[in-house]
Amino acid sequence: MATGKIKRVIESKGYGFIQPSQGGEDVWFHLSVVKGDVRFEQLQVGMEVEYQFKKGPRGLQATSVQVVMGQGQVPAPPERRAQPPYRFLNPYNFVRFIPPSNGKSEISSADTAVGSALKKKGYIQPQAGSTRSKEDLLLGKCPPPPHDRYIGVSGKIICLLETFSPLFISSAERIEHRQDHNAYEFFKIDGKPAIPGSSLRGMLRSVFETVTNSCFSNLTDSRLSYHLEPAKALKLVPARIEKNGTDAWVLRLLPGFTELRPGKRPEGPQYAAWVPLYLSSMLRPSRNAQSSSPYGSRTDLALNGFEHKTQCWARLRLVEHPQRHFKFWNVEQLAHSEEQLSPLRDGERKAQGYLCITNQNIENKHDERFFFCGEDLEKAKVISLNGKVEEDYLTLIQDYQDRHRDSVQSRIRDRKKPERPDGKEPAYSRFIVHENESKALQHGDLVYAMIDENKEAEFIVPVSVPRVTYDNRISKLLPKSLSPCENYDELCPACRVFGWVHQLDDGNKGDTSKHVAYAGRVQISHAELKYDNGTLPETPLAILSSPKPTTTSFYLSDGRQQATVDADYNDSSALLRGRKFYRHHKRAEEENYYRAGGRCDDQNRTVRDALAPGARFEFNIHFQNLAPLELGALLWALEMDQQCFHRLGFAKPLGFGSVKITIKELQVLDPGQRYDSLEHDGWQPVPNWQGRLVETFKAVLADFHRCANFDALPNVQDLRALLSEQATNLPIHYPRSSRRPDPEGKNFEWFMGNNRYVHQPLALATEDRGLPLITRDGAVVN
Ligand SMILES: [Zn+2]
Repeated sequence: MATGKIKRVIESKGYGFIQPSQGGEDVWFHLSVVKGDVRFEQLQVGMEVEYQFKKGPRGLQATSVQVVMGQGQVPAPPERRAQPPYRFLNPYNFVRFIPPSNGKSEISSADTAVGSALKKKGYIQPQAGSTRSKEDLLLGKCPPPPHDRYIGVSGKIICLLETFSPLFISSAERIEHRQDHNAYEFFKIDGKPAIPGSSLRGMLRSVFETVTNSCFSNLTDSRLSYHLEPAKALKLVPARIEKNGTDAWVLRLLPGFTELRPGKRPEGPQYAAWVPLYLSSMLRPSRNAQSSSPYGSRTDLALNGFEHKTQCWARLRLVEHPQRHFKFWNVEQLAHSEEQLSPLRDGERKAQGYLCITNQNIENKHDERFFFCGEDLEKAKVISLNGKVEEDYLTLIQDYQDRHRDSVQSRIRDRKKPERPDGKEPAYSRFIVHENESKALQHGDLVYAMIDENKEAEFIVPVSVPRVTYDNRISKLLPKSLSPCENYDELCPACRVFGWVHQLDDGNKGDTSKHVAYAGRVQISHAELKYDNGTLPETPLAILSSPKPTTTSFYLSDGRQQATVDADYNDSSALLRGRKFYRHHKRAEEENYYRAGGRCDDQNRTVRDALAPGARFEFNIHFQNLAPLELGALLWALEMDQQCFHRLGFAKPLGFGSVKITIKELQVLDPGQRYDSLEHDGWQPVPNWQGRLVETFKAVLADFHRCANFDALPNVQDLRALLSEQATNLPIHYPRSSRRPDPEGKNFEWFMGNNRYVHQPLALATEDRGLPLITRDGAVVN
């Protein structure tokens, strides 16, 4: 009977880990093996236990666990209640869209009423040739009105903008390039801080789009790729691409001395042998290096002219990985011929094969691979390679090359070798650097193949821990009506008001009879600074994560827009969570936006003259031919609700850029000469229009989506939850593993721990009570 302590309990999953008293690796246990008076749900971290265990496929596994007597009579220790566990809010969450089936096509009475009232006043006229009145409704998709006639309301909105947190809008011109680090200045016009109209426009459009349930206009619709999880990567079989006599490509599978198990991981040693080449130049010290073990006694080989794809002989020694419980063949010597190998020592073998060198392209890579065969090459298995597998492989490589082209070129410009690591940065794989070699399959290419149970190749990849593409593009996981608009006659409200450009990618290019763009009907001026409350000192900001839609545990939901961690882009029933919005922070905490230690490198940016809260700006919006509902939606998008803030500019995830817009005045332009009471040549202030237009828009929108009222719409609820002050008072920051921010911003460790062990989804915006701190090993830190 072994003894140890409970190290971690993952209640939601029904398992936990024991830390053995004698040291060594943790022991996994399932709730079903917990015996005695203390039940699984009552287990506490630190409790002493006795247990029995066996070696399972994934490591040590307890067969029985019992708490040592005298503990555990207390179901929940009081100190746990006294100090609530640490929770934080992710800087972004999603606003749900309204599924299309909720929309209706008939015209609503509310709209008819406001429409006809305004028509009577002459502010809106029915469109010529229209037999339906659907165009008045304007909450679904329809053609936009022409620009050459006044048929709607035209006018001007004068807006005030006040900042409630630091604001930084970057100037594209004034960037100071220091060594490995850039410092940015605030955007200025005539030497005075200003906000470009384009920034205001983007900010407004996103709220307008969201509230009107318009299309996702800025969806980047590439096919996403992801790192194949290590457990799956173990199933990959080394293979050589060959063309022997026939025209068709074949794959020669090279599983070495280990029996090939299609669709499963090998039971014996790993298929390919390891060639130690970078042990001494590891970018990050390995936690596995233990010099006393046979694993740690391995030393780097000298390649002595051997190159990628070289056919050669190797002397091999069987080694066990000290922590991950698998065996592999370690290459002790490479030689051109069998005779050149030194005599075999105990436990060694020799084999013929191919050297596969892909470069030190991941941080802690220490070995390359040697693809070898058992007794002789001719016995190796040959399977056919179909066209789709070939095409996907070339697309994958093309995608890698496109993504890395700029950085590869910049290393070449700096006279550095992209195939060598540079500082903390890993090298680039050979197929990224040698573009031409990788444009088409070549006889002798070495790849890894995923073989299914029918012994057919599912896909092939160039490296052992590859990125692979998902089956679906992002747009596939959205209802069709919410994908970017494609047809001039069916534009969504946001495309009609703010403008539309067809994303020409479907071979429509030559067809000149089709509209490909529509100029929007709103123009937004730059915002002019009216009052300034001082600036922040020069600030090296904390590291900002780039948006990663591959963070599937956050970005995707199940088919009913519920949070889940299990969906991915291969799953056709998965849906995008919605539109991403950065939360309003009650206060921007310096601890979160200032990089610990004030460090400056290529990971972060320094900002200068960020405006302190309390600055005030003014800007104008000119609009033409807007239908009353469109104007109502625009007015709502400007002010939203009293408690909501717009998010503007740089560093929003760190708490910058909360601003509030107030409409100072709404003016309309006299549309005709028919009413004597109106001034013919001027702008007409209409102070009491605003409330009426907004209320009408809200009522019609709710009706259109068959919702009791505006406040009950899911998109409105989510927007409010994200853009107003949090009642919970939880800190807002990127996922991380400790209470203190990590200056390296390694939030991928949180995702590693969460994806593998904890499985905590990002809750709906309206139900979000925060996330726990999680380490890469899946421990929850309180
Ligand atoms: Zn659209």
